[in-house]
Amino acid sequence: MSRKEAILNLREVLIKRRDALRRVLAGDLSSLKELKGQASGDVVDAALDTVQDEISSQLAEVESRELARTENALERMREGQYGVCEGCGCNIPMARLMALPYATLCIKCQREAEHEGLGSDTGANWSRLLDDGSQDADLSASDLELDVS
Ligand SMILES: [Zn+2]
Repeated sequence: MSRKEAILNLREVLIKRRDALRRVLAGDLSSLKELKGQASGDVVDAALDTVQDEISSQLAEVESRELARTENALERMREGQYGVCEGCGCNIPMARLMALPYATLCIKCQREAEHEGLGSDTGANWSRLLDDGSQDADLSASDLELDVS
């Protein structure tokens, strides 16, 4: 399998993952409403409600973060930049992309970033959460200007 084919496969994985995350995030909100609807209104229930809200919002935060990274990876595919290290411009090895499809740094640059205390989420872009993501529907193989060697 060429690098280009492998990336197209990963694109399918990322889109499925993105859609699943969106469903979970949407579901979180509805299950939250159900919890509120079932509350009988006494003090204990109110306290439990608060805890449930907190857990749900923390889960939603983790999922939102992953969704942002996933959308960032799909955006880079649209731009033909997917799999190119943001640090040094090299091709990130496919094995790394398979393990971490939204990686934006090669292992060497990732280590340097971690060493500098930047953490591992330099690819996350919170503003992406505001996008509806529908503009990637027209991506085709020819849009991916990739080095297939
Ligand atoms: Zn690099």
